[in-house]
Amino acid sequence: MADIKIPVEPYKIKMVEPIKKTTRNERDRILKKAGLNIFNIPSENVYIDLLTDSGTSAMSDAQWASMMVGDESYAGARSFFHFEKAVKNIFGFKHVIPTHQGRAAERILFQTLLQEGDHVVNNIHFDTTRANIEVRNAHADNLVIQEAYDPDTDYPFKGNMDVKKLASFLKEKRKGNIPLVMITITNNSGGGQPVSLANIQEVSRICHSQGVPFFFDACRFAENAYFIKKREKSYRDISILDISREMFSLVDGATMSAKKDALVNIGGFITLNDDSLAQELKKTLIIGEGFPTYGGLAGRDLEAIAQGLTEIVEEDYLEHRIGQVQYLGELLKKEGIPVFQPVGGHAVYLLADKFLPHIPRSQYPGWALTVALYRESGIRAVEVGGVMFAEKDERTGKERYPELEMVRLAVPRRVYTQSHLQYTAEALIRLYWEREKVKGLKIVYEPEHLRHFTARFEEVK
Ligand SMILES: *Cc1c(COP(=O)(O)O)cnc(C)c1O
Repeated sequence: MADIKIPVEPYKIKMVEPIKKTTRNERDRILKKAGLNIFNIPSENVYIDLLTDSGTSAMSDAQWASMMVGDESYAGARSFFHFEKAVKNIFGFKHVIPTHQGRAAERILFQTLLQEGDHVVNNIHFDTTRANIEVRNAHADNLVIQEAYDPDTDYPFKGNMDVKKLASFLKEKRKGNIPLVMITITNNSGGGQPVSLANIQEVSRICHSQGVPFFFDACRFAENAYFIKKREKSYRDISILDISREMFSLVDGATMSAKKDALVNIGGFITLNDDSLAQELKKTLIIGEGFPTYGGLAGRDLEAIAQGLTEIVEEDYLEHRIGQVQYLGELLKKEGIPVFQPVGGHAVYLLADKFLPHIPRSQYPGWALTVALYRESGIRAVEVGGVMFAEKDERTGKERYPELEMVRLAVPRRVYTQSHLQYTAEALIRLYWEREKVKGLKIVYEPEHLRHFTARFEEVK
């Protein structure tokens, strides 16, 4: 293991939360009761939870301290002004509108901007972004570069927008039908892959030459900035804060889920320069979220975000954070376990159909892998494959599967130590050696929409 870089923590621990080890027999019972669906497992029975990095971060002592001085006034709370200042310091826009989480920011933005039949372009839309566009009968178009779909090449910026396709898309649809273009940094639905500053500059130029507003879905902006620093030569000596500021100087605004790169458990915001749009957004905000100086959050939540935003751009933090994810990926790759390359910013994605080649797609190898991983070692991961994304032929009931059948191991921020990651890698390596024992699955119950949350399964005999 000498050749694998060990992530060294830039913090020490002063509060701990016990996690429980269960026996294999107990987990087998828990799984049966859960219908072999990891979403139905009470988190108490999970030893290491890699379900998501959203809202699962550990807050710092400074964040907890800031919560104690939260100003809970309805209007004009001191905490709002702290929050606004912290957001402006990085993002640099005139208006900052708090929301209870990222999807509320999206709902308010799209409700205000979109007409039926409009198109919104993104590298790859995240699920909630797509849903908030489609619910207004508008179209969510993905124009990421082709490399994004190839799990085996080492291309450094697989989150980039295909600028040729974007330029012709904007020309072909009359621009009136495209109220905005977005880029998701990092590209969550494409494996947490970063977008280069060169690409952002080019997209900005194309959009602005056509008069189309350009926004970020900015959830993991600091992780994206870190990749730019490491992979884009001319930024090697620029601070994360300055790289972030340059990124935001090229767009007209952003939506943000603070549950990611603001190191808090709940919160979000929209930030932009356009005065009249901001005024419209605030009108919608008041109806659904709250008064513009709290927007669905408590004063203490606004304080925690303000403090979190100062910590997220620290290079020591990011080196460790991204380092942890890379470390887990390296431990797995070294044993020949198939993973999506290169490893992204917040998660390692296993290529489940290559991990379990004896299980046909119709028996959900990704889902089977999440079940086996929990049963053998108490680790919870999530399938991103056939159960989540299959399309069903209405007439024949036959399913069409997405190109990639993956299992995501998302690493929460500042929560787990190196030995937790080692334990995870060892569990997967053992499972890989004994992979032919893992059985395929069939669905015995499924709802009409978003079936992965509540479907029930049985093993195929
Ligand atoms: C999490 C996420 C969202 C939605 O944010 P929530 O806080 O979960 O509502 C939007 N876009 C991306 C890229 C995300 O990762």
